[in-house]
Parts: sequence; structure tokens; C-alpha cells
Amino acid sequence: MTLETSIEYIKGIGQERAVLINSVLGIKTVEDFLYFFPNRYLDRSKVYKVNEIQAQESVEILMKGKIWDLKELGTGKGHRLTAKFSDGTGTLDLVWFKFSKWLMNQIPQNTEVFIFGRVNHFNGYWSMSHPEIELDEQKENDNYLRPLYPSSEKLIKRKLNHKFFQNTLKIICTHIPQLIEENIPENIIQRHQLMSRPLAFLNIHFPQNYSYYEAAQKRLKFEEAFFFQLRFGLKKQQHKTHAVGHPFPIVGDYFNHFYQNSLPFELTLAQKRVLKEIRNDLKKNRQMNRLLQGDVGSGKTMVALLTMLLAMDNGFQSCLMAPTEILATQHYNGIADLLHDSPIQVKLLTGSTKAAERRKIHQDLLSGALSILVGTHAVLEKKVEFKNLGLAIIDEQHRFGVAQRASLWSKNTIPPHILVMTATPIPRTLAMSFYSDLDVSVIDELPLGRKPIITAHRKERDRISVYQFAKEELKKGRQIYFVYPLIEESESLDYKNLMEGFEQIAHDFQGIPISMVHGKMKPEEKDQQMKEFVAGRTKIMVATTVIEVGVNVPNASVMVIESAERFGLSQLHQLRGRVGRGAEQSYCILMTSDKMSQESRKRIKTMCDTNDGFKISEVDMQLRGPGDLLGTQQSGVIDFKQLDLTKDGIIIQQTKDAVEQLLMQDPLFLLPQHQKMKAFFIHQQKKKGHWSKIS
Ligand code: ADP
Ligand code: MG
Repeated sequence: MTLETSIEYIKGIGQERAVLINSVLGIKTVEDFLYFFPNRYLDRSKVYKVNEIQAQESVEILMKGKIWDLKELGTGKGHRLTAKFSDGTGTLDLVWFKFSKWLMNQIPQNTEVFIFGRVNHFNGYWSMSHPEIELDEQKENDNYLRPLYPSSEKLIKRKLNHKFFQNTLKIICTHIPQLIEENIPENIIQRHQLMSRPLAFLNIHFPQNYSYYEAAQKRLKFEEAFFFQLRFGLKKQQHKTHAVGHPFPIVGDYFNHFYQNSLPFELTLAQKRVLKEIRNDLKKNRQMNRLLQGDVGSGKTMVALLTMLLAMDNGFQSCLMAPTEILATQHYNGIADLLHDSPIQVKLLTGSTKAAERRKIHQDLLSGALSILVGTHAVLEKKVEFKNLGLAIIDEQHRFGVAQRASLWSKNTIPPHILVMTATPIPRTLAMSFYSDLDVSVIDELPLGRKPIITAHRKERDRISVYQFAKEELKKGRQIYFVYPLIEESESLDYKNLMEGFEQIAHDFQGIPISMVHGKMKPEEKDQQMKEFVAGRTKIMVATTVIEVGVNVPNASVMVIESAERFGLSQLHQLRGRVGRGAEQSYCILMTSDKMSQESRKRIKTMCDTNDGFKISEVDMQLRGPGDLLGTQQSGVIDFKQLDLTKDGIIIQQTKDAVEQLLMQDPLFLLPQHQKMKAFFIHQQKKKGHWSKIS
């Protein structure tokens, strides 16, 4: 048996089952089977009695007893199979809502069995639905943790059940000493006290005991993270040695003049530090690829602008790309405003730029008359050509992914420097994995004098007092946002809610000028309404989430979010970031109904507990999972088997450091102690052909 051996040659499988297993589980070879890890274990040392299950509601447990009185009940939708289960301490109902004659015949009655599943309390009775059943035939030397594998009805019908997988893997595992070689260098194994690779594979399938299981899992997580980091570390290293970039050695007049005369405030220490990191990159003749992380309101835009001025000082053009038209416009206005007394040319290019203006922009980019281009995805179009693009900044809302980032590279013969800015912070583990091809800078400090926003949770019955509070703020001269959800599936209903909300507010706040902005309005109309609010002529802004990113109105001090339970955490945090931009104390009020899911409750509580975007992003990842946080197109990149980005931050950091050291010591994998690692790495690259798409 080798790793490449087809599974059809394993005892008890054969050609027909091999085809089925491959089609359902994607397992073709012995190696695939070794990586088919149990998704949970049956702990045989803990057998529960019927009279003990009160405390175990909704938990998967193991019980031992006899099944009897098997019968079909009900018709149509209520048609079900039931049975009794007794163990001498009491009786439990078993129930199957989906079953076949075949299944009925499989269920052993009046003989000692183990049953395994979740117990539920319903209408005064305890029951277990769809239990897994095994005859009591435990062997003397069996381990007490028994692996359970992900399966499907289709497989189980063909007797490819837990027992089958256990037996097959038992056979394969006897060959582990010949099949599995160590692939992590010995010094790293020592330093992190990792279980050896063969032992880890053995114990992930058949744990000798619980602590062996934990050690095996840690080892396999470490290995997965290690080779992931190695792949990106190599890429980064190759990039650093090969990808030439335009050197920006000069800090010249554009930068200095602006810094001394036009900077409206002192930079925070964090902004200064990040700027230094960027300058360090730009001095060298290597292309910069940097991620700039910072909380909402931490002042990323100023860092972006100063970097663009550096580009100009060195004779290069820059572009700044934002995810939405509103945000691009905002960036453009802000930058044009800051540069109003300088000769620097800045232009805005979006989907709605008129043809004549567009042509002019194209010309001026080519001639070099235009120095800074701000825009949406429109800047990526082929027709947009630069004379000498030296810097591309991406303000990300949705994660763009490496491919899209790379499309900016081709805008110059030597690729421009790339700075990616996140709209809201992303968890550290995600940054270290999804963005592992980038260097990371963090602005971990807000400008001085910001008062933390006070966040409160209110319900419909509190509405009068919420309005009362809003009126007091208005009296002080402040402005207020009311934001309504607009989620596509229920668009028309949401639209109705928004309109009703508007009417209610208009009624309750008589005499106060109100703006309204929503997605169904024409751009000019939207613009007009927005301008009125920005100029302070209207005092209340009723809007859907179109204002999520963008609007900067320092005088606005209250953000009321309606149906807040329907917003995601990062969205709530973004919205809240629209206030607290001035010197005044600001407030965020989260209005919800009484009925909320547990997850919504956790989101609302998190918002009330903290203003820290980094903490919020961690909770968001725990609730939604890393894949959802990235957006579906990108999640394949972080599709780990064992590693869990919500829990394994320490391992990710350890492997990142280990890989960095290793690449410094032996960048070409020439040392003898690195040969097995190298061989495995190459083998893995070949196997996961799709990985190469990432670069
Ligand atoms: P974000 O990081 O969310 O993009 P912005 O760049 O929009 O944040 O900055 C938020 C606000 O803070 C802007 O009004 C900006 O002018 C202001 N700001 C940025 N840096 C500083 C600073 N060092 N001191 C005071 N205000 C600052
Ligand atoms: Mg911003």
C-alpha cells in the first residue's frame, strides 16, 4: 500500500463502492482517506442513563439499553417511525421522520445496543430523533473514543456507515509507519512540542485517549498552517527579490508643503508610524504590497493622501479606488478640498462620469497632466491608461481578492505600489491568512479628543423617549441620522418601512427640515438631499444603508438604527462610525423588536459593550465564520481542514514566525534537514492544483 494506491484495492471496498465513495466524498486514494478526518468522536467512557438526561438537553450523548415497540404512526406529513428505548432507569421515545422499509429492518430490537444522538424535551416527553444505533460488541482493547465520520444517507444505504469507515481506516492506519513521513523540520517540532506526524495521523483517527487526541489535532493544525504560511511566505519572498518597483527616494515639495501648510491637524502617532512603514517600502526598488488596517475614523484617508503626495514628489501618478460611487465621491471631495490651494490635478472617474469628461480624463492621464485619479471599479477598465502610474490605493469594503488586486499591477510596465485599506478592521487571524501575501500596517489609535460613542439598545415601547432625546440634541444644534435596513429579498417591504418611518418622523418632528436618501432615488436627487444635510440646512437624515460608507458630517451626533437586529456587526459598526466625528459627545441608538435570535442579541450586546472595531470583528467572525466574513467568492482560499481561524490565532502566529525564520535561514531549501519538508511541499502543490490560481 502506498499513498497513491486507489481505494478500490483496500479490503472490503472494491470497484463499485470506490466509485460511490469518490463521487460523494471525493476520496480516491489511500492518502485522501487518511485526510478524511472524523468530525466527532463517540466517548464510550460516558454512557448516560435515561434518568440522567435532564441536564443534557440538545447535546449528543451515548446511551445503552434495548429498543422495543417499533411502529409507524400518523399519515402524510405526520407519518413517522417510533420506538421505545429503555435502560432500566427509564424510557425514552425514539423517532424517525424520514425512514424507509430498509431502515426499519435494520433497527435491532430487544437486544443490548448503544444509541447515540441529541435528546430533546418536547410536550413533557424526552425523545431522541434519528439516533445512531450500534450493537454492543465492544472489544477489549478498543479505545474509548470512537471516530465518527461525516456521512450521508446515500452512503449509509450502501452500508458505508461509521463501522465501515472505522474498519477501513483501521486497515490503513496499520500501514502508517510506512506511509507517513515527518514533514516539519525537527527543530520546529522540538520548539513547539509537536506530536510526530505518524502518531498524529494514528491518533486523529483512533485516539489513544483524550490528551493524545488533543496533541494530534494540534499537530495537524500546526502542519496545515505551517504549509499555508510557507506557500505565501515563499511567494512574498520571491516577490521581494524579483518584483521590481519604482523607487520613491524623494520627500519633496508636494509632500513637505502640504505637511507644513495644509495639514488640518497633527497626525496621530499611529498615523506617523504607518507612514514611516510605507515610506520604508517605497524607498526600495521593490513593489510595495501593503495592507492598512484601522478602525472606522482612524484617519486612513490622510495616510493615503500623504502617500500619493510622495508619489508625486517622485514624478508618479496615483489612483485611489473605492467600492461605491458615494465613497469615491466622498474621497474625491475630501482630497480636492485639502488640495484646493495647490496646483495638483485631481479627478473623479465613476460609472456615471459623462462621456466628454471621461475622454478628457483619459487624455490627461496619458499626457500626465492629471496626477491623482479617484474612482470606482471604472478605473480598472482597459481604456484607462496612465502615463506613469506609481501607486494604487484600494479602499476595500468587500474583499477584492488577489486577482483583482493584481489587475491594477498591469497599469504600468513596472507595477505600481499597492496599498489596500480595509473599511472596517478584520480579525488578526484572517489578516494573517487571507492577506498573507501582504505586509500589514495597523493604525491602532483614534485622533485625540474623540469621545467614545455611547451606544444603547432600545425597543419600540421606548420610541417616545428616544424621540425626546433626539429633540434635545437637535435643540443643541446637532444633526441626527435615522437608518433603515434595505435588504434585497424584502426590498418592497423595507421600502414601505422606510416611507412609514419617514412620515412618522416628519409628523413627530414638525418644523424640522428633513433629508431622505434611498436606493430608488435618482443620483441627482440623492446628491441634492445629501448636500442639504452636509451643509446643515436639514437637521435629520432618514436613509437606508446607502450612507453606510461615505458621508462625513462632524455635526451629526446621534445615529438611530431601526431594526438593528437585521444588520450585521460590521455594518452596525460602520454606521455608528458616521457619528462621533466632531468634538461633541455622540450617541448610537439601536432600535430592535422584542423578538430577537440569540445571534442578534449577541450582536447588539457587542455593539453596546465596545467601540473597538478590532474586537467587534473578532466577534463577527465567531458568529459568521471566516468564509462569510470574506464573502463567498474568496472563502476557498482559507478552506482549512483542521485549522479554525476563530480559535487558532496562536498557531497561526507561531507558524508565521517559524516560516519567516526558516526562509531567512534557508530561502532555497538547500539544507539537508529541510529536504522532507520540501518534498512534501512540492507534492502538496501538485495535488492542490487550484492553489496556483491565487497568484
Ligand atoms: P477612516 O480611517 O475611517 O477612513 P477617515 O480618514 O475618514 O477615517 O478620518 C476620519 C476623520 O478624522 C476625518 O474627518 C479626518 O479628517 C479626521 N482625522 C484624520 N486624522 C486625524 C488626526 N490625526 N487628528 C484629527 N482628526 C483626524
Ligand atoms: Mg475611510
